[in-house]
Amino acid sequence: MRKLLLASLLAACAVQSPAFARSAAIVNDVTQINPVPVERVLVPTTIGEIVDAVRSHPGPVSIGGGRFSQGGQTATERALQIDMRQLDDVVDFSKERKEITVEAGITWRKIQEYVDPHDLSLQIMQSYSNFTVGGSLSVNVHGRYVGQGPLVLSVRSIRIVLADGTLVKASPSENPEIFYGAIGGYGAMGVIVEATLSLADNVRVERRSAVMPVSAYRGFFSENVRGNHEVVFHNADIYPDAFDTVRATSYVRTEKPVTVETRLIPGDRSYWVDRMAFRIISECPGGRALRQHVLDPIVFRGERVEWRNYEASYDVRELEPVSRRNSSYVLQEYFVPVERFEEFVPAMAAILNRHGVNTVNVSIRHATQDPGTLLAWARTEVFAFVLYYKQGTTDADREAVRAWTRELIDAATALGGAYYLPYQVHATEQQFRAAYPRADAFFALKTRLDPTNKFRNKLWDAYYRPGPDLPQTRPAAKVAVRVVPPIAPPDPEVEKRIATALSGVAGYKRDEAQTYLTLPEWLLVYYPDEYARFLKGKPASEFPYFGSIVQFWSFYRDAYNVTRGKYPFNWGYHVMVLVIGSSYTVENGIKGVYENTVGRLAEWLAGGTMTQEDFLAAEVAQDYVDFIRLEPWYEYSFARALKQLWAETDIFGPHLLRKWERKLILSAEYLVKAQYATLIKLATKAAYGNADTEMLALGGNVTPGALEGEAQVKVLKSFEDGSVLLSLPRYDEFRDAAQRLVRKGVYFREIAGNRQILLTSVVPATWQYDLSAGSVLFERPVLTDTGHKRIAINAPVPSLHRILIEIADREFEVEHIYDY
Ligand SMILES: Cc1cc2nc3c(=O)[nH]c(=O)nc-3n(C[C@H](O)[C@H](O)[C@H](O)COP(=O)(O)OP(=O)(O)OC[C@H]3O[C@@H](n4cnc5c(N)ncnc54)[C@H](O)[C@@H]3O)c2cc1C
Repeated sequence: MRKLLLASLLAACAVQSPAFARSAAIVNDVTQINPVPVERVLVPTTIGEIVDAVRSHPGPVSIGGGRFSQGGQTATERALQIDMRQLDDVVDFSKERKEITVEAGITWRKIQEYVDPHDLSLQIMQSYSNFTVGGSLSVNVHGRYVGQGPLVLSVRSIRIVLADGTLVKASPSENPEIFYGAIGGYGAMGVIVEATLSLADNVRVERRSAVMPVSAYRGFFSENVRGNHEVVFHNADIYPDAFDTVRATSYVRTEKPVTVETRLIPGDRSYWVDRMAFRIISECPGGRALRQHVLDPIVFRGERVEWRNYEASYDVRELEPVSRRNSSYVLQEYFVPVERFEEFVPAMAAILNRHGVNTVNVSIRHATQDPGTLLAWARTEVFAFVLYYKQGTTDADREAVRAWTRELIDAATALGGAYYLPYQVHATEQQFRAAYPRADAFFALKTRLDPTNKFRNKLWDAYYRPGPDLPQTRPAAKVAVRVVPPIAPPDPEVEKRIATALSGVAGYKRDEAQTYLTLPEWLLVYYPDEYARFLKGKPASEFPYFGSIVQFWSFYRDAYNVTRGKYPFNWGYHVMVLVIGSSYTVENGIKGVYENTVGRLAEWLAGGTMTQEDFLAAEVAQDYVDFIRLEPWYEYSFARALKQLWAETDIFGPHLLRKWERKLILSAEYLVKAQYATLIKLATKAAYGNADTEMLALGGNVTPGALEGEAQVKVLKSFEDGSVLLSLPRYDEFRDAAQRLVRKGVYFREIAGNRQILLTSVVPATWQYDLSAGSVLFERPVLTDTGHKRIAINAPVPSLHRILIEIADREFEVEHIYDY
């Protein structure tokens, strides 16, 4: 009865607006910045209710535990949300076996209250005790326990309700694939309703704390903590913003009498002092220094002996800000293999400081290797970096966070590490896959267990791509958009006859692999374009030279992966890309080093003022981009740019040092490029001959009206079903003509004899692909504009018209159609 009453109260609380009162509810997480409208919230008190709901609910089902995850992991639009918090009883307990079986909605705190009188403690849990067992299992959490790792290591078995309503037991030996898929699976496989967990002795622990340079920490940890079985808890806080000092704190098993009598932190404890301290640290000038040099020495002074359960019963209320209207405290976490510790810390510090992140704390934890969960974040023994920071709640604040989060993710994955999934969903699909390389096996299991994609939430909406016929949940687009219906397929007999006719047309067929392989070439138009725009308003030293090198090669790798094994290896093209990519790498590597050292110093001496030479460099950069959009880059006259530099800028003038520094470096740049261009021009002509200018395509619905004003589009041949062979211009003009034609009703059946074509578009970073055709092959942030990303769309040619129209409706730009 008590449960039922609480259940109805919880359901009523989830309904926030009278407009939604009958059927809909808004669910949110602890940050209050991720509201998701769901159809209904169900608060079951029995497993039977869950089985019924999963079986009978026709739409998506999401699962909520304590709702402390921070990126919509517990809900999706129009879902039935199963709020597990009232399925919270202890089912079985054995003191001898040190084992407890619980319903999944139970919190750690409730288990602690149950086992503490038996002198037992949970083997693994987080630092705070408010989380539910089901939510923690689905995240596969960790705590501060030494010699332990992910929660899965303390799980003996689970019971889970699958998408078809069956209730299944899973353990490392029984249905192991479900066990290792559901633990750490963020509710994708089903509803975990019960778990049997290992317990440990509730021993007394003594606190020991030491401050040291960050460079000494790994040695300290391996000598004093890693192999020391007496150490129960350990973590180390890195002090921002210098990130060069850590406070390492261990809780070591002891026989000494306790100095803290209470066995669990009282549930009604007041946290206003803690909250005030966090506020001072995050908001007051000198707050961080105050913490490091005054508050922490006070907090960690003197002897402290307490019970293990006391140290494990923290309450998240201590972190709760006064208001979350304008800002919120948020968490992130990154994992790196232990031996890469020294590389990650400075990379992380540089990113956080460069972006001015309001970092409150970075806590280092340690975890042993995961035993085999499909979404393991500890693929090897790792150090975890828990980042606690404050962020604003506006869209611009979120965009800013997205940008630096992605940089941190890259920094961690570059070292063979991962980022943590219960936080804001900022990672691109590539980043997700880099961090979780067994994602394919995970998704394959999901497809098998949940073929209709019933279990959904915002995390899986972002990364799981079910078959095209299955319902997909994507955020609704902001502008009114059309979904263009597909064209009826042609008669196969007629098609055969047309194919025979086309096979005799000279120059009709091009190598389909080229649509993917020409992408890297075009990047060397887009990057200079971004560079030219950047120079107009920002100092040259701030351009992401190294980032663009990394991005170039990663795009190349992705493009190559699409073609590998599917098309014959195109030696000529790969050699060409390697040549231009290496040139770009050398050029930007040199520029990056120079601009970040000498350039930066000269900029600083000029007080950040731009000289005539800076303006001229920006002008030349733009002129170069305008030129290479139409002509090969090596035709550009760098000699003219050099002449301009010396003719159009004064020899003497304000900020003389910067002026001459620019004159010399730009002269060197233009001179070297002029020589190099001459060389490449000769080589290119010898290898490839002159570029062609015509693209042939088979089009449908090509009316006289559609061709009006299209001087460069010609009808070469008509066929019995009304389709025509078109001659179109190439490159940017092809893109523009294709966009104009489809708006006038034309569609393509084949382009250059091919049925697949690649296009790129620069879209808002938050946009999730929701077009009625095509798919995103890969995407990367635009490095100079963090609010946008570049997406590469694989378009079936017969659907190209739909894709182009739907992109235009969203007011996005098609950057290029890669016409082989
Ligand atoms: C202040 C704070 C401190 C934190 N400290 C730590 C820490 O020390 N270590 C750590 O690892 N993490 C930590 N986290 C992250 C936190 O542990 C996870 O978000 C955890 O899942 C929270 O549990 P929950 O009950 O709130 O789960 P929820 O956020 O409600 O759910 C998490 C995921 O599990 C799924 N889920 C929930 N219940 C079930 C179920 N019964 N069956 C199937 N799927 C289910 C949900 O759909 C969702 O995808 C912290 C978070 C906060 C806010």
